[in-house]
Amino acid sequence: MPVQLLKIIKGESETPLPSHLQKEDLKCLQEGCDYTNKYFQGTVVLSYPLTKLRDGTDFFKVVLQDLNNSCSRINSINILIYGKMAEDCAKVIRHGDTFVVAGFKLAKSPTAREDGRHGCDLEVSEEAGSAIYIYTKRSTSAASETASVSVAPKYVYTPLNHLKDGTVVNLYGIVKFFKPPYVSKGTDYCSVVTLVDPSNAKLTCTLFSGNLDSLPKIYKIGDIVRFHRIKIREYNGQMQGITSGGFASLTFDGSVGAPVVPRTSSKLYTFLDEEQKTIEELRAWAASNLSISGPTAKLSGVQPMLFFDLTCQLVGKARVDGSSFLLKVWDGTKCPYPTWKVPVEARDLEGEKGLLQQLRNLTVDILVYDNHVQLAKSLKIGSFLRIYSIHTKQASADNQDVSHVEFHLHGGTCYGRGIGVLPESNPDVKELKAFLESVDLADSQNMESMSSVELDGIFSNVTDLQSHLQRCQQLSVTVLTDHQDLNNTGLKTILNSTAPQQYRIRAKLRTFKPQKLHQCIKLYCSKCNSLKEVPNGDDFDLILQDAAATAPNPELRNTSWYDSVMWTTQDQKQRKIAIHFVKHDEMLQEPEETLLMIEGGTLKEVWKLSRRFKCVIPVRSTEDDLELLDLSAPFLLQGSVKYYGCKQCSTPKTIKSLSSLAAEQRPSWEPTEIAQVLGIVPLQYVFIMKFTLVDGTGALNAYLFDYMTCHGWNASSSPITSQME
Ligand SMILES: [Zn+2]
Repeated sequence: MPVQLLKIIKGESETPLPSHLQKEDLKCLQEGCDYTNKYFQGTVVLSYPLTKLRDGTDFFKVVLQDLNNSCSRINSINILIYGKMAEDCAKVIRHGDTFVVAGFKLAKSPTAREDGRHGCDLEVSEEAGSAIYIYTKRSTSAASETASVSVAPKYVYTPLNHLKDGTVVNLYGIVKFFKPPYVSKGTDYCSVVTLVDPSNAKLTCTLFSGNLDSLPKIYKIGDIVRFHRIKIREYNGQMQGITSGGFASLTFDGSVGAPVVPRTSSKLYTFLDEEQKTIEELRAWAASNLSISGPTAKLSGVQPMLFFDLTCQLVGKARVDGSSFLLKVWDGTKCPYPTWKVPVEARDLEGEKGLLQQLRNLTVDILVYDNHVQLAKSLKIGSFLRIYSIHTKQASADNQDVSHVEFHLHGGTCYGRGIGVLPESNPDVKELKAFLESVDLADSQNMESMSSVELDGIFSNVTDLQSHLQRCQQLSVTVLTDHQDLNNTGLKTILNSTAPQQYRIRAKLRTFKPQKLHQCIKLYCSKCNSLKEVPNGDDFDLILQDAAATAPNPELRNTSWYDSVMWTTQDQKQRKIAIHFVKHDEMLQEPEETLLMIEGGTLKEVWKLSRRFKCVIPVRSTEDDLELLDLSAPFLLQGSVKYYGCKQCSTPKTIKSLSSLAAEQRPSWEPTEIAQVLGIVPLQYVFIMKFTLVDGTGALNAYLFDYMTCHGWNASSSPITSQME
């Protein structure tokens, strides 16, 4: 029968399409090809009234949309049906039906320019051997009424090593890595999944959807997914998958022996008996070929300074500030370390008060940041979560033996960071629930509560400091100095007393500046007390370009204390470059011991040289000696460190002054010594921040100041100096 109505029952067609038929994509349709054994499938978006042609033949025109190509410009095509089939079709067809045309012909569409559809029309008739299958929704259950697309019953699955650029394929894969769905830049959710299969090929797929539910429900590495209509693209020699129109997925537990039950939000999907076998085969292959145990841990087994995945129940949650959110969770075990408690206002904390109190020694506070905040907000108290890549950070309070661990879910999605909600049917959740019910709460309540550690004012490094400050500012956390011997003094008293004095204060941080870490680094002259911004590479580049305009003076080559090499670049600029290697005992030294001076070099060349040689000094020729460049440029480069001099306080001497250092028995080339002989007052890199502290009696500006030595940042605790305003 040329026109056949196929019923969809539980996502499967009652009768499958003949197996000789192969599916053809809209964009692959071309005039002149043989489509006898091909079929095209689309959704009916428009149909015209049944008419008769001049010769009396029935004619019916339908427009099909290809949901696989819903994002491309041309995604619909005219179907011209002739003869008996036209009449039959016209009787049964409705908008939204899935329509399959097999054994058709293609002819150039005379209306393509006006209707913007495919350049060819698809011609169908009984005489040409065509067949039409219509998947109808009408006779099926109410559930499938709401489903958007019914699918062809027979799919071909492409192994991962046979993927080709520009194709839309169906595939199976085992999850090797994944990022749980997160809100991407737009309003869409994004998830990233890397798959492997027994071909040993790997495919990373980036999946977007406006609907969280339509992304694969992957809970752990080792899960198996089936993707339908995933678009393959080649990028940098590697195949990548991205969602295309009509993308659909099923996810299965990857454990051998687990029930084969697909996770999907779709009410309508096909899953054939033979696919059950595919899943079982993939599970068996993964079990013997992949190590897929993720970094999961119980709270009782957490290790400081590591990352882990936690399966837990949400007990409480609270907004902390715009960029962080608190989750209070438990898994029935007790963390062996004291854990931090993020201070939040009681009224901001959602959750059942009684339970929060009862579980207070078993819950841990996880602070989630940035892109995870939105999802965290939407979580329901009591739900079961898997939080991926939690950072366990050890923080110790100064002057105390107690150290505590903090749990952070940092922003971003590196290493699969994210939060997944597990359904109650998940085997891990079932196990966790049973365990939670068995926990003797009386026991944990008797445990000494030592989990609350106050945040202290001393932080080990500036990055930490900054993130802490950003939180402190919102949290009204007390910031203490390390002078525990002093009593607290009110800010008003301090403001009214004369400097210098030492105080210990208890205050709220109102603001701090600058907010960006790199802006905290400045250059400081200890002689004139001036602070300057660190010049950027562009400034240095300009000064070098300027200096390169003066050609090296040939008379300044090869002196008693340095050897010179000079050459002209082959490019259009014909730059003249001179490098002077300082000698010691009439001999050149090993590169890592060598100080050299360069004339006419570019920024890149200077940097390259500074990586290889101990010291690089950019210079230019005058009539009778070499001299330093403008002091906005570094006077010395050592490795990646650039040394600057104070413009106000320095009186640069000519380079000849360096010869006294070169003549020393063992020149150490210390930056301070070099600066001194060259008449330079060196600038120090300092780290400076300004805090505004308030305590109800007054407001005080405090400056945090730290400086860098040649061994890095000054290791001693950061003194806080305050200034009254
Ligand atoms: Zn100065």
